[in-house]
Amino acid sequence: MTTRVWGYLDEYAAEREDILDAVDTVFGSGRLVLADGVRSFEEEFAAWHGVPHCVGVDNGTNAVKLGLEALGVGPGDEVITVSNTAAPTVVAIVGTGATPVFVDVGEDYLMDVSQVEAAITPRTRCLLPVHLYGQCVDMAPLEELAERYGLAVLEDCAQAHGARHHGRPAGTMGRAAAFSFYPTKVLGAYGDGGAVLTSDAEVDGALRRLRYYGMEERYYVTALPGHNSRLDEVQAEILRRKLRRLDSYVTARQDIARRYAVGLADTELVLPETAPGNEHVYYVHVVRHPRRDEIIEALRPRGIELNISYPWPVHTMTGFAHLGHGEGSLPVTERLAGQIFSLPMYPSLTADAQDRVIEALREVLKDLS
Ligand SMILES: *Cc1c(COP(=O)(O)O)cnc(C)c1O
Repeated sequence: MTTRVWGYLDEYAAEREDILDAVDTVFGSGRLVLADGVRSFEEEFAAWHGVPHCVGVDNGTNAVKLGLEALGVGPGDEVITVSNTAAPTVVAIVGTGATPVFVDVGEDYLMDVSQVEAAITPRTRCLLPVHLYGQCVDMAPLEELAERYGLAVLEDCAQAHGARHHGRPAGTMGRAAAFSFYPTKVLGAYGDGGAVLTSDAEVDGALRRLRYYGMEERYYVTALPGHNSRLDEVQAEILRRKLRRLDSYVTARQDIARRYAVGLADTELVLPETAPGNEHVYYVHVVRHPRRDEIIEALRPRGIELNISYPWPVHTMTGFAHLGHGEGSLPVTERLAGQIFSLPMYPSLTADAQDRVIEALREVLKDLS
């Protein structure tokens, strides 16, 4: 049996009846697009966070892109973010016509907020912190800069469903917040999905127009840009059922992280640390070691398939070469990318399977030294 980093397929056995009921509810209603499922999920996801508005969209990338557009970001603008993120964060920025500007990360993998002010120019329109791996960026300094320079803040919460920062849920701190429901995420659909949260009624209205061809009412385009970026009814009904379990998913992930912390405490692996005031939800459990590649190779024949989130910093990929941030421009990001790897982390990971991973890792690390 192979143990992998993701186990969302295992969850299906436990949730199958609920999932099939969601599908049947939608198909039996005959209302397949932007109907009761999406409306109800939007209300419930907003209520879970204690914010007034949620707009369901087709995926997390478009949640970021439409979120930016709803905040007025477009060609000629600059958006400050990080290169240590899932590439879609940056693909979405480029998709609006704006220019991504990168700052480095700290040893905690998150945006080094002390570098943001120096990156602000007259063209800066938005700050885009990514709550990477399931832990929130230090928001107070960003909120202060946003206020002082008149900038919007969009949170990328694609990896942080249920995370908290000084008691505030991820997704409630920016002017808007983008979520992905890609199947592996902490709250995952059975296909693609996304959403944007906001407390701002104007941003909410813009998002509803942006996801619906630029229309405010049927057949009448009010303003462009416009997209077809709707959340699917089936995924919305599935997400409603899974949202009721979000707290238990988070608790299970935190229990697994604690077991790794105990089992790997006296090894040379650098384990994840949670900043004071943060509640980490461990979308991925990232550790690091200078001989990462050898460790991954040695674990494969033992039936453990690990993953790297992410092997290439965004700014070093050929697709982003035009941005002009060359190799060497973000030294911490580049160093960490060569050392990080992710351990199996999903709510249904059994203690036995996890103990086998811990034991195998300990053996491999001993052989290396
Ligand atoms: C997954 C992810 C996205 C993109 O979401 P999709 O639903 O796959 O389009 C964006 N940003 C981050 C940080 C992600 O992890």
